[in-house]
Amino acid sequence: MRRALVAGNWKMNKTIEEARTLAREVAEGVAGDGLSQADVLLGPPYLALAAVVEAVSGSAVGVAGQNCSHQADGAYTGEVSVSMLRDAGATHVILGHSERRELMGEGDGLVARKSKAASAGGLTPIICLGEPFTTRRAGTTLARIAHQVEHSIQGAFGSPPPGGFIVAYEPVWAIGTGLTATPEQAQETHAFIRERLEAIFGLECAQETRILYGGSVKPDNAADLFAQPDIDGGLIGGASLNSADFLEIIRAAQMDSAST
Ligand code: PEP
Repeated sequence: MRRALVAGNWKMNKTIEEARTLAREVAEGVAGDGLSQADVLLGPPYLALAAVVEAVSGSAVGVAGQNCSHQADGAYTGEVSVSMLRDAGATHVILGHSERRELMGEGDGLVARKSKAASAGGLTPIICLGEPFTTRRAGTTLARIAHQVEHSIQGAFGSPPPGGFIVAYEPVWAIGTGLTATPEQAQETHAFIRERLEAIFGLECAQETRILYGGSVKPDNAADLFAQPDIDGGLIGGASLNSADFLEIIRAAQMDSAST
């Protein structure tokens, strides 16, 4: 059985003090409510990483970067390396988020290079895939996803890491829009991603890989999404900025873990 994972992506939100407070509230909520059956990660902006790492230290909550460079060090103004994230205490890094793909022009090749660098440097990548609305409307979602699996994941890894990958399926049209893929739409794409991973990396990797759903997950739709057999948790944007909502979503993931 795959262990559920709920990761918060705070994007460009929260001052250092606000981040510290939110991280404490989440860590205390996870401990106080005994939410130990789902893994929990917080993804603060870089400047708040150290404060968040300190705030969750000694708890079961981990910390993820929102992006990293594929370069180790050097003249790359404004970039942050894998070793810098590790040094700050992050264990994971979100890569290929749709906002980086859409707003910063990051393509599959770069996502693959970043994933490779992260993995080699000891950070676990959370590799994001997803289609824009035009692709869904054209009925070519699965072809687009297959291409992303090949070029963002297969392009980076000759063999799978132990325990499989962490992939996030994020339909671009559902991110920050309040629109959500129906549980059935999400399940179909998640099952397809798992099928592609099996074809490329084998059954064990496909079965171990955790595929998170991202796209306007809220307390009131989380349970239905997480009940789908191939949805192993969520990458949560807006609803992770508020501890009560985020804890409610973690609770939904934990209940699903307990029932499967
Ligand atoms: C995200 O940022 O990964 C995301 C899914 O955002 P939201 O939950 O706000 O749609």
